[in-house]
Amino acid sequence: MSVTESSSINIKPRILYQVAKAAWEGNLFERRQEICQMVYKEAKDPENRRYIANQIRLAMGLEPHESEEVFSIYDKEVLMGLSESQDSCPLAVITQDEYKKEEIDQTKCTDTGQCFSTCSFGVLGEKAQFVPLLKLLKEQSAPVYASVAPAFAGQFGTAVTAGRLRSALLKLGFADMVETALYADIITMKEAFEFDEHVQTENDFMITSCCCPVWIKLIENKFPELVSHISPSVSPMIASARIIKALEPAAKVVFIGPCVAKKSEAQLPELKGAVDYVLTFQELSDIFEAAKIDPAEQPDEENPAASWCGRVYGHTGGVSSAVGATLARLVPRRSQGFKPLQVDGVIACQNLLEKIKNGENINANFIEGMACKGGCVGGPGRIIDPNNAAREVDAYASSAPAHTPVENAKIYALLNQLGHSTEPITLTGHSPIAAILAREITK
Ligand code: SF4
Repeated sequence: MSVTESSSINIKPRILYQVAKAAWEGNLFERRQEICQMVYKEAKDPENRRYIANQIRLAMGLEPHESEEVFSIYDKEVLMGLSESQDSCPLAVITQDEYKKEEIDQTKCTDTGQCFSTCSFGVLGEKAQFVPLLKLLKEQSAPVYASVAPAFAGQFGTAVTAGRLRSALLKLGFADMVETALYADIITMKEAFEFDEHVQTENDFMITSCCCPVWIKLIENKFPELVSHISPSVSPMIASARIIKALEPAAKVVFIGPCVAKKSEAQLPELKGAVDYVLTFQELSDIFEAAKIDPAEQPDEENPAASWCGRVYGHTGGVSSAVGATLARLVPRRSQGFKPLQVDGVIACQNLLEKIKNGENINANFIEGMACKGGCVGGPGRIIDPNNAAREVDAYASSAPAHTPVENAKIYALLNQLGHSTEPITLTGHSPIAAILAREITK
């Protein structure tokens, strides 16, 4: 297919498709000039050319720069798959100064990724990671696992069930697909125990740390006095990768979800090494298209693992509902006193944290924040409308083999595999599993 085909769709997906196709076919370096022609075919003025040039660079895993030329002499190794990426800061721009030089105020950035789709400079953007990933999948030099976020339901079309998505990923070269929701189940149990331990009086409250790295970053950067209330747990994404690697050290893990901020979370110094690559749903869709794999036509071979609780993490309120339902099973006497409050959208998150900081009565003791409106179904790497996606998430959750992690036999099997066969399960304190699930929060 030439670069001008499919011209009815937006430029960014077309660039991603062309780069994914060349990477999948192993000729990205050879086809680089052909792909670069998009700059001149699609735009006449320097600003738009620079935008397109930088979108091509980001799709190839290169840093954006200030030229309408796509490549510099330093890019060759990345394009040939000899190097995974460049080392400098992935985010560069939010304003232009009088000399047309772009600037970003990192102190204001929370990494939601929502600005990427609207930045008119094309320089502010997230780097795609699929060039080295596709090379790894083709070489089969290590087992590569896909940890797929709970918000996947409905994203690839209503015909694409979990089983069909799994088959499509196996066809792409993945060793298997796991539900990140299974690991959300484990974190749910941990947070239920933590609630029991730490929320003892009327004045105590707990802030869930579960899914959203932007929520945590907001608290760390702007509300340091609230940091001690955050649950010291890793996200389900990190938990999935750490547990997969604890069981199979040679494995590589790719997180697939609607979130751009997860790309930053995976690179945080205290979490680095767990997740190897992060793809958005949109990027995976482009890869399927490039590889001519239609998930809707694959065999439906689901390997269900997570409970209803883990699967509803995909939308706002999911974490609170999950921890509430699990607390009711684990420590029923505490259930009455569980008072959750959910908030979504960065501004609403900030306003709520301001109230808590000022000592206002919020009549809640379990606080859940999601940076995207509607929760992860509203993430910038989504494909479908967030409201439809929330309905799909609920429908998939209702088909779960267990309601809470407490009745989920897969949890006990997994913990047994990790060498934790004793009852009751201890996920807090100093057990080895607690160490896998623990995260140091920056104070
Ligand atoms: S709400 Fe979900 S998609 Fe949005 S930034 Fe947080 S983790 Fe990412």
